[in-house]
Amino acid sequence: MKAEIISIGSELTSGKNLDTNSQWLSIQLASMGIPVGWHTTIADDFDANLEAFGIASQRAGLVVATGGLGPTQDDLTREVLAKLLKVPLEFHQPSWDTIIEMFTRRNRACPDRNKVQAYFPKGAEPIPNTTGTAPGIWVKVNQSYFAALPGVPREMKSMFDGWLKPKLIGMGMSQGVLIQRKINTFGLGESAIEEKLFDITRRGNDPEVGITASDAVISLRILAGAENEALALKKIAPAEAIIRERLGELVFGVEDEELQDVVHQMLQKFGKTIATAESITGGLLASRFTKVPGASARYLGGFVTYTNDVKKSALGVPAELLDQFGACSKEVTLAMAEGCRERTGADFALATTGVAGPGDLSPELREGKVFVALAWKGGSQSETNQWFGSRHEVQSRTAKMALNMLRLHLLRELKHG
Ligand code: AMP
Ligand code: MG
Repeated sequence: MKAEIISIGSELTSGKNLDTNSQWLSIQLASMGIPVGWHTTIADDFDANLEAFGIASQRAGLVVATGGLGPTQDDLTREVLAKLLKVPLEFHQPSWDTIIEMFTRRNRACPDRNKVQAYFPKGAEPIPNTTGTAPGIWVKVNQSYFAALPGVPREMKSMFDGWLKPKLIGMGMSQGVLIQRKINTFGLGESAIEEKLFDITRRGNDPEVGITASDAVISLRILAGAENEALALKKIAPAEAIIRERLGELVFGVEDEELQDVVHQMLQKFGKTIATAESITGGLLASRFTKVPGASARYLGGFVTYTNDVKKSALGVPAELLDQFGACSKEVTLAMAEGCRERTGADFALATTGVAGPGDLSPELREGKVFVALAWKGGSQSETNQWFGSRHEVQSRTAKMALNMLRLHLLRELKHG
């Protein structure tokens, strides 16, 4: 059994407002073990609603619609349901009493046109609304159960939690729990990761393993449905073990953890400090370090050195290096990291240079060509990469690349004691 979510409103299809109800409802249903198979968004148009409701009632066991229950002419949900069911709308006195009471409590006269909100398709059950005027509608359409809720997120949520969720559980529709585990990796592309995990990302596997990419961070999502949480976790564990074994150091964290979070934790463990010298990333690295609560214990500060002159004056990069290799080079990036470490007294320093684009600097220095360097007491190391992406993507990914370089360095130090 799969559910369908229908969002109704021309403000949604026009792009004026973002449909957040579908997201919220999908998460709630998934946590109850009811997978959502479809999201449909429709304008305030009678025929379009009729068609979409009809399609949904034939393919989904449960349909949750939001919007279109207001008192105005563009609110069509109740009429559409009546038409689909080929039944008349019937007046429901208790709902009308509640609506009047709602207005009275707010010291306002109840407009006559609100009376339409007390009409329901014959045979339907009203869903009480304790925070607004529009009651919802619960009715069986073809093979599916249909719940129409108001579009206002606050009202929709309280009616879902207070009425629909208990109703679905009572009907035995909640098929246990659906639990997701997210494993985050950095360092390889989506297809290269998939290649290593081909057997477990195959469709139809249980647990289901999906891959998502977000700005060079590739995440594996393990989705397991089971009777209860303990059983779902039992399904997830072996899949997670395989992923970790095959991907090794590529895995940096889980759930919402970002690179700076794990780097901060590792620096904390070692009692070490970090400083930054940025050219191409223009402060993005500093911004990432300072996002972490308690950053001041580990992050000493940083430089944004964009011109050659400032690289010389602020970091002491030798003029000869800049002349000989150019600012976007392994040599200059290493010198920036070393200069930054000396000037700040940090245990580690990270530096970034490169060509953010658009446009190439030279045939060798194409847009997206970047260098990162790490300096520590007694050593330094650099890496280069060629990104393909917008200016923003090149900058953001280079900041992550630098963080990852420090992460791998600390990981290896940890291993060797
Ligand atoms: P309605 O019940 O159609 O009168 O919707 C009332 C208001 O709720 C709209 O004007 C929107 O601001 C909001 N709303 C409706 N549908 C959604 C949705 N899918 N996601 C977020 N907000 C919504
Ligand atoms: Mg509307």
